[in-house]
Amino acid sequence: MKLKFKEPAPITDHSNPLESMMERFDEAAKILGLDESTYNALKSPEKAVIVSLPVTMDNGKVEVFQGYRVIHSSKLGPSKGGIRYSMGVNLDEVKALAAWMTWKCAVVGIPYGGGKGGIQCDPREMSQGELERLTRAFVGAMRDVIGPERDIPAPDMGTNPQTMAWMMDEYSKLSGQASPAVVTGKPLVLGGSLGRVEATGRGVMVSARSAMAKLKMNPSESTCAVQGFGNVGSISAKLIERQGVTVVAISDISGAYYNPDGLDIEEAIKYVTKHKSLEGYKAGKKITNDELLELDVDILVPAALENQITEENASRIKARLIVEGANGPTASTADDILEQNGVLVVPDILANAGGVSVSYFEWVQNRLGYFWTEERVNRRADRVMKQAFDNVYKVARKHKCSMRTAAYIVSIKKVADTSSLRGIF
Ligand code: NAD
Repeated sequence: MKLKFKEPAPITDHSNPLESMMERFDEAAKILGLDESTYNALKSPEKAVIVSLPVTMDNGKVEVFQGYRVIHSSKLGPSKGGIRYSMGVNLDEVKALAAWMTWKCAVVGIPYGGGKGGIQCDPREMSQGELERLTRAFVGAMRDVIGPERDIPAPDMGTNPQTMAWMMDEYSKLSGQASPAVVTGKPLVLGGSLGRVEATGRGVMVSARSAMAKLKMNPSESTCAVQGFGNVGSISAKLIERQGVTVVAISDISGAYYNPDGLDIEEAIKYVTKHKSLEGYKAGKKITNDELLELDVDILVPAALENQITEENASRIKARLIVEGANGPTASTADDILEQNGVLVVPDILANAGGVSVSYFEWVQNRLGYFWTEERVNRRADRVMKQAFDNVYKVARKHKCSMRTAAYIVSIKKVADTSSLRGIF
C-alpha cells in the first residue's frame, strides 16, 4: 500500500544548492509515490562518523582537526565520494553531498552507494608534511569505515592525487596488504586510470551530443558558451568544439571572453597553461560572467560554481540546451522558468557523472590488477553516459517532467527497489 509521506519542512534558502537538491528529491519522490518508510530512510544517512585528529604541526605544537565521513547509502554497493579539505566542512554539508553521490552513482548505473567526507582545515596554510600527517591520521581513524569493499574516497575540494597516494599507502600499511582500490583519483603510477583527468568533461560532451540529437540540432550550425575553464570547463569546451560546434565564449574567475566567430579552444588551453588563467586573453572581447550566461547561443555549459542560474536571470537565458558541468549551477527556483521557456536542461547528477564513472573503472582495474588502454576507458565511459542519458530522457517523456526530475526518479527508484529486494527494514 502506498502511504503518503510527511510534507518536508519548508525550504527557506532557495539559493542553497543542497536545499535545492532536497526540493528536487521531494518532487521526484512524490511522482514515484514513494512509501513513507523508504522516503524517511533515503533522507537520512546510514552512517555518520566524526573523528578528532591530533596532528603534530611543523612548529612542534599539536593541533586537533575534526574529520567527517558520511555514508548516505550502501544499498547499491560500497559507498563512493570525495574527501574535502576546507574550513567550511561541517556535518550537514557532508551529509547532503553524500546523498548527492548516491543519486549520481545510481543514475549512471554504477554499482556504488554514496558517501562523502572532509576535514575542517585550510590546506593552503599547511605544509606538505602537515597535510601528509593529517591525511594519515584520518585514514587511521577511519580504517573501519573506508575500504575497497566498503567505502571508497576520492579527491574533492582541497585534495588531489597526492592526498589519495598517502591514503592508499596508509590504508595498505594498516591492512598489511596492497590496497590500491581503497581510493580513486590516484596518480597513474600508483594505479590511477587513463582517461580520468578528461572524464568529467568527456561526459559533458557525450550529454551535449545526445541532447543535440534529440533536439535535432546540427552541431556545425550550433554555438556554445562555457562558464568556467578549469578541469571540467576546458575539457568540455575542447570536446564539444571537436563535435563541430562553434564555441563563442569561455570564462574563468578573471572574466568572460566572447568572439561570435568562434574561439580556438586548444589555443585557449595553451594560454591558461602558460598564464595560469584567461586574464589578458585577447582572442575574444571581454564581457562579464553574467553576460556570458545570457548570450544568444544554442548551448550553455555552466562548469564553474553552484547557483549561477537563478530566478533572477533564468528568463533571460537564450540557450535551448543547458548541460550542467558544475554541481548545482541552477537554483531550484529557476527550474520552472527554464522549463516554461522550452530550455532542455541536462542535470548535474547526470551530465557530470563521467568523472565518477571512470573512478569506478579505476577501482575495477585495481581489483583486476589489469589496466585498460585510454581508448577502452573512453569507449566504456561514453557508453555509460549515453545509456544513462537515453534512460533519463525516456523517463522524462513518460512522466512529462524535466530531465532533472527524471534523473532523480531513476536514481531514487533504483535505490528504493534495491532496498525493498534486500529487505532492509
Ligand atoms: P577547477 O577548479 O578546475 O575549475 C573551476 C573554474 O571555474 C576555474 O576556471 C575558475 O577560474 C572558474 N571560476 C571560479 N569562479 C568563477 C566565477 N565567479 N565565474 C566564472 N568562472 C569562475 O574545478 P573543476 O574540477 O573544473 O570543477 C568545476 C565544477 O564541476 C565544480 O562545481 C565541481 O564540483 C564540478 N565537478 C567536477 C568534477 C571533476 O571531475 N573535476 C566532477 C563532477 C563535478
